[in-house]
Amino acid sequence: MTESAQQPQKNVLIVTAHPEPRSLNAAFSDFAAEHLTAAGHRVRTSDLYAMKWKAALDADDYPDHPADERLDVLDAAGRATAEGRLSADIAAEQEKLLWSDAVILQFPMWWFSVPGILKGWIDRVFTFGFAHGPGHPPPYSNGGLAGRRAMASVTLGAEEPSFSDRGVHGRLNDVLFPLHHGLFWFTGLAPLEPFAMYDVNKAPESRFADAKREYAHRLDRLFTDEPIGFRTLNGGDYDHDMRLRPDVETVGTGGLDLHLRPHS
Ligand SMILES: Cc1cc2nc3c(=O)[nH]c(=O)nc-3n(C[C@H](O)[C@H](O)[C@H](O)COP(=O)(O)OP(=O)(O)OC[C@H]3O[C@@H](n4cnc5c(N)ncnc54)[C@H](O)[C@@H]3O)c2cc1C
Repeated sequence: MTESAQQPQKNVLIVTAHPEPRSLNAAFSDFAAEHLTAAGHRVRTSDLYAMKWKAALDADDYPDHPADERLDVLDAAGRATAEGRLSADIAAEQEKLLWSDAVILQFPMWWFSVPGILKGWIDRVFTFGFAHGPGHPPPYSNGGLAGRRAMASVTLGAEEPSFSDRGVHGRLNDVLFPLHHGLFWFTGLAPLEPFAMYDVNKAPESRFADAKREYAHRLDRLFTDEPIGFRTLNGGDYDHDMRLRPDVETVGTGGLDLHLRPHS
């Protein structure tokens, strides 16, 4: 029995971004769905390429937006969200997010970021008034999607040391800061440490078996692992300009680590 089989049944949304159904990323996505289902959880997937997801945000996302009117994106998205008039594909993804207790983003690292189709999913689905904005608790604390967890599962061509503290690419968690902090934590999703498989392009079959075992372990602890300990915006650590107060920073800490709570 897996560790998660002893936990209450939860809802997990897996969002996958790869154009090839026989890819390594598709294999990880399928593996996660099977493993979580076997552990008793409910799983839904958004396979963005298979869905032919429209990546670019534009006026078609807000069907009531008058064609001759200047498109103010935040305003149009906010109004369409409030009135339940978003395009059907966006509304369907928002329903899945609200249904979920945890979200997994499965993607290959492309140019130090998510593939464009996944960025487009983020841009279009996390609308003003849905994931953030007035009517929601402050961001970086308790945003619109609070109570849920989120994890990036990423494959990388580079080797692990090159994404470490002295690695030329920067630390993986710094590279993923826009996702962990700017998207997950901003909207209230508790960010979990990423699952990463490095050096995948030269990986023999045996390494995939090892990676699956490691991933299974992470999936078993999806609802019990301690999330990344980012500071809250409304916890008194930041001033009115949203700058960290110097007196709360830990000596010797710098860069993006400033936004982590000091270890107790
Ligand atoms: C546009 C672009 C930008 C990139 N930018 C970066 C970057 O910034 N940083 C970085 O580190 N890398 C980068 N890369 C490399 C990229 O991250 C890897 O190519 C990607 O993670 C590989 O994942 P995949 O799913 O495409 O693998 P695949 O090509 O599908 O497979 C990779 C390997 O795994 C094997 N495999 C596939 N499926 C299975 C399976 N079911 N079981 C066992 N083995 C399997 C394959 O045989 C192959 O050897 C970039 C690549 C591209 C195309």
